[in-house]
Amino acid sequence: MIRALFIFLLGSMLFPVDGTAPPQAVSFRVLAFYTDKGEQDHIDFAKQALPFFEGLARKDNFEFQATTRWEDWNAENLKNFQVILWLNDFAHTAEQRKAFEDYMKGGGSWLGFHVSAYNDRDTGWPWFVDFLGGAVFYGNNWPPLPATIVVDDRTHPVTRHLPATFTSPANEWYIWKPSPRLDKQVKVLLTLDPKNYPIGLKDTITGGDLPVAWTNTRYRMMYMNMGHGDKIFTSNEQNLLFEDAVLWLGRRK
Ligand code: ZN
Repeated sequence: MIRALFIFLLGSMLFPVDGTAPPQAVSFRVLAFYTDKGEQDHIDFAKQALPFFEGLARKDNFEFQATTRWEDWNAENLKNFQVILWLNDFAHTAEQRKAFEDYMKGGGSWLGFHVSAYNDRDTGWPWFVDFLGGAVFYGNNWPPLPATIVVDDRTHPVTRHLPATFTSPANEWYIWKPSPRLDKQVKVLLTLDPKNYPIGLKDTITGGDLPVAWTNTRYRMMYMNMGHGDKIFTSNEQNLLFEDAVLWLGRRK
């Protein structure tokens, strides 16, 4: 009892309950875009991502907001945020695409997950393909499956807490053609271990270079292929990867 009281008093001294402690200024501001329509597995991921990033924001002292309103996707609003997340959706209209290009060229940061980088020959947005390091969607496995991931570079700020390989929870993995690794300015951080092949039952990826996370060093950007279903946040190692990615983008000078 006395011990509990002592801890309470000590706590009160460190963190006054009357609110006199000066609030720490947030170090950067993050805005997440997502949709609550479309493929349920992509919605499930976004719905879990929101509390995950809210928790990180409290822990790591940044501000986190999320919206499904693509009307807010304009230069006037975007300039208030240092990092943009695309959880399960992407810019659709010419105006939204232009606003994104301007934001990235102006030094903004982007962290995209899974379907947010999806593009094929009908997308008609060559700038975005270039932004991704040339990556065009080529195929996927089905059903979603866990996979062994190889960490290409463990010295990078985004991957420094990871072991040499780790198991990523069940996901729908995308393979791209051409592989963004062929772009000399792209740095691949994670790759699907070829030992996973063949991966899939209904749809099977049998081989090929499958970068899972990479950055195009011409921009402040990072893409990660995770983002399908409700298992993504069940790996502590992978959660550290997400945390380090948002901190790397947010704290870059
Ligand atoms: Zn998917």
